[in-house]
Amino acid sequence: MKIYHEVIVIGGGWSGVSAALAANKAGADTALCERTDMLLGAGLVGGIMRNNGRFVATEECIAMGCGELFELTDSISRHRNIEFPGHRHASLYDVHLAEPAVRRLLLERGITLYMQARITRAKHHEGKLIQVESDQGQVFLADAFVDATGSSGPQGLCQRLGNGCAACIQRCPAFGPRVSIARLMGLPEYMTSRRRDIPGGAMSGSCKIYKETLSQSLREKLDAEGVAIIPVPKDMVNHSKLDSKVCQQYALPEYAESLVLLDTGHAKLMTSYFPLEHLRQIPGLENARYADPLAGGRGNSMRLTATVARDNSMLAAGTQNLFVAGEKAGICVGHTEAIVTGALAGRNAALLAKGKPLMVIPDTLATGDFISFSAIDTEGNPAVPGGYGLSASHTFAGSVYFERMKALGLYTTDKQAIRKRVRQAGMEGVFST
Ligand SMILES: Cc1cc2nc3c(=O)[nH]c(=O)nc-3n(C[C@H](O)[C@H](O)[C@H](O)COP(=O)(O)OP(=O)(O)OC[C@H]3O[C@@H](n4cnc5c(N)ncnc54)[C@H](O)[C@@H]3O)c2cc1C
Repeated sequence: MKIYHEVIVIGGGWSGVSAALAANKAGADTALCERTDMLLGAGLVGGIMRNNGRFVATEECIAMGCGELFELTDSISRHRNIEFPGHRHASLYDVHLAEPAVRRLLLERGITLYMQARITRAKHHEGKLIQVESDQGQVFLADAFVDATGSSGPQGLCQRLGNGCAACIQRCPAFGPRVSIARLMGLPEYMTSRRRDIPGGAMSGSCKIYKETLSQSLREKLDAEGVAIIPVPKDMVNHSKLDSKVCQQYALPEYAESLVLLDTGHAKLMTSYFPLEHLRQIPGLENARYADPLAGGRGNSMRLTATVARDNSMLAAGTQNLFVAGEKAGICVGHTEAIVTGALAGRNAALLAKGKPLMVIPDTLATGDFISFSAIDTEGNPAVPGGYGLSASHTFAGSVYFERMKALGLYTTDKQAIRKRVRQAGMEGVFST
C-alpha cells in the first residue's frame, strides 16, 4: 500500500519534530517517520537549553511563532537560570519527561506518526525525491520531504572513528542503524574535519549517571542547585579528551580538571567518557553507574559525520524537494540549533508543497545569520566568506559562533529587545501564518 502526505519528515529528533510542527502549522498534511519507538533521538539524553546565545535563538523563535518546543522544555525544566563554567542563564529540562510531552503535542496538532518506520530506500528522478520506503515495506509518497536523520552512529562509524559502540540511546542494534535520505539520493556527505588525530567525526560530550547511585549529599546538592563541580585528582586529568568533543563550547580546561555534574533527571556528567574505576575513586561517586551510554566508562557515540550542502531555505543542493535540518544541515550541535533549522526546513517543505515561494530568515537575526554561517557548499567548503565550514562545531552556546554573535551585537538577554529586532525584520509571528 502506498501512503501519501503533502510533507514527510524522516527522523524524529528535535529537528524532525520541529520540522513537522512547522509544516503542519503552515497548513500541510504532515507525517513523521521515526526509526525507533521514541521521538527526540539525541534529545532523549541532553537537557541544556537557553545557555549563552541559545537564549537569543529561543526568544527569536518564540517571537517568530515557532517557539512551542522551547515553551515545552521551559515547562519541564528542573532548573532555570543556572551557571556553570563558561555558561550563563541555562535551563535544564527533565530528560525523562520530554518525549511523552512532545509526542502528545504532535498528535494533538494532527501530525501522523509512523514509529519504528526506518526508511532504507528512496526513489528519485532528476533531483526530485518521489517516494521513500521503510524496511517493513511501507511506501511513502510526498510533495516535499525533510531529512532530519541526524548524524549519530551507526555502530560501524563509532567503531572506526571512536572507541566502539558504547550502547547509547540511539539503540542501533535493536532498531537498525541510522540511514541518511540524502545519501540514498546520492548526495555527497561530509564529516567534521576539526579533530587532529582522526579522519573525522567527533565524540558526544556528556554521559548520564543514575542519580540514585551518588552519595546523598551530592544528590541533595544537585537537586537544590542543579550543578556540582568536583575537582578531578591530578593523575586522572586528561586534557586530550577535550579535543575530540562534539561540543566545543564545553572544551574548556575546567571540564578536564573537574567533574561538572548537572541535574537533568539523571546526573549529566560533562565529559565524553570517564573510566568507571577512576570515577568511583572520587568522593560521592563510589557507587556510580552509567545510565547513558551504558559503556560511558569507555566511550560515547560518534557524530558530525553526515552533513550535506544546502541553501538558506534549507533545500539540499542538487535536489528539488528535499530539505535538511539539524545535524544533517551543517556541523551544528544542540537541541536549539536542531529546532531552529527544523522549523525553517519544515515550513519551506510545506510552502513548496503548496506551490508558494520559500522563506529565508534575515541575517539581522541570530537564527538567520546562524543558518547562513553554518552552511557548507557542494565542495564541503564554508558557504559564506569567513565561515568555518567543517572545521568547527556551530552552536549558539559557545565556540566560534557565540563569539560571532557577540561581535555582531546579536547577544542580549533582553527579551523585549529581541522581539523588537524580530518585528523590525518583518518576522514577528510568520511561522503561525
Ligand atoms: C549524549 C548527548 C548529550 C547532549 N546534550 C545536549 C544538551 O544538553 N543540550 C543541547 O542543546 N544539545 C545536546 N546534545 C546535542 C543534541 O542532542 C543534538 O545536536 C540534536 O538533538 C540533534 O538533533 P537531530 O534531530 O539533528 O538528530 P537526532 O537527535 O540524532 O535525531 C535523528 C533521528 O532520526 C532517526 N533516524 C535516523 N535514520 C532514520 C531513518 N532512515 N528513518 C527514520 N528515522 C531515522 C533517529 O532514530 C533519530 O531519532 C547532546 C547530544 C548527545 C548525544
